[in-house]
Amino acid sequence: MQIQENISLRPYNTFGINVSARYFSVFSSADQLSELLDSRLQTLSSAKAAEGKPDSRLILGGGSNILFTRNFDGLVLKNDIKGIEELHEDEEYVYVRAGAGENWHGFVQYCINRNWAGLENLSLIPGNVGASPMQNIGAYGVEVEDLFWDLEAIHLQEKKLHTFTKTDCQFGYRDSVFKHKFKNEFAIVNVSFRLRKKPVFHTSYGAIQQELERLGVHDLSIRAISDAVINIRRSKLPDPEEIGNAGSFFKNPSVPKILYEALKIKYPNIVGYINADGSVKLAAGWMIEQCGPRDSVSWKGYRSGDAGCHAKQALVLVNYGNAMGDEIFELSEKIVKSVKEKFGVELEREVNII
Ligand SMILES: Cc1cc2nc3c(=O)[nH]c(=O)nc-3n(C[C@H](O)[C@H](O)[C@H](O)COP(=O)(O)OP(=O)(O)OC[C@H]3O[C@@H](n4cnc5c(N)ncnc54)[C@H](O)[C@@H]3O)c2cc1C
Repeated sequence: MQIQENISLRPYNTFGINVSARYFSVFSSADQLSELLDSRLQTLSSAKAAEGKPDSRLILGGGSNILFTRNFDGLVLKNDIKGIEELHEDEEYVYVRAGAGENWHGFVQYCINRNWAGLENLSLIPGNVGASPMQNIGAYGVEVEDLFWDLEAIHLQEKKLHTFTKTDCQFGYRDSVFKHKFKNEFAIVNVSFRLRKKPVFHTSYGAIQQELERLGVHDLSIRAISDAVINIRRSKLPDPEEIGNAGSFFKNPSVPKILYEALKIKYPNIVGYINADGSVKLAAGWMIEQCGPRDSVSWKGYRSGDAGCHAKQALVLVNYGNAMGDEIFELSEKIVKSVKEKFGVELEREVNII
């Protein structure tokens, strides 16, 4: 394992932001990570202590949920722990463990090929397995917490392995304990999932049913659902290979029903979905579309320099080439402010800002 210095992070984040890491290394096992954490103490602590700066490190997966707004003046540790293992099975379920550095979509396809059901609606989400419980990734009516069994993570200070059950993870909408109480404290090294032998299909969400009809699917299968989801995603979302982005930049905010009803009177077309607890989840993309830098101009399709708001998906902020992270962040600030002014609703960022 090598610790490199002053490495550009551009190839390591889907926004394509050109910042650098003071130190950078890749680990492919929990032992290698422990070694790096030891060597970090040797290589970094003296330098940092001499500079009077706090130590800092960042565990990086596929870089598809991060916006770098500055050079990272610490150690970036890229997780490359591979391996997929069938742990055991019972009548209904199969239990599967995947290394945190496995590509998410590759893992989903691996499971579909073996007829293990549950992850098909989450096809084509970028990034790695290790980050999937971090923000409880979700799409088309399914979230990781629905399939999650447990995970193992190394405490970055103690260097001890801990197991987290579903309850320990405190999953919420694009949320987990790793974004709050244990922020930057653990490196997730593997995640286990409980998948069904007999599928339960989720086709009511979004345009899945429509796409299945278009594809002429008569015998529903997890493969067919995955194909439909892949087609929909390809037609709707910008490919980071072509335009830098990190998917939805903002979360859909939930508001009390009474506020939703008041907004509905003023804005009859406002889009909202009732949550199980009676609150209403508002479509942030719709609200962003209704606001803009000036009265008659929408944020949707707006561009300032190389920072912009995607023309088809107002929820997605983009880097057209050489935008700096702080330009994209500033644009997000303006969007948050204008939505707050118009609707009285505060948008929260889904992307991790560094
Ligand atoms: C085009 C596009 C579409 C997207 N669509 C969706 C979608 O439909 N649904 C959805 O939920 N998300 C979506 N995303 C967001 C993103 O794909 C997910 O959040 C994904 O899980 C991020 O994985 P990553 O490996 O790239 O994480 P990174 O961006 O590398 O990291 C994200 C955060 O997790 C931390 N982290 C990463 N790995 C570990 C680890 N092993 N241990 C501890 N901490 C870790 C990082 O420090 C960082 O804070 C989309 C992104 C893009 C670019």
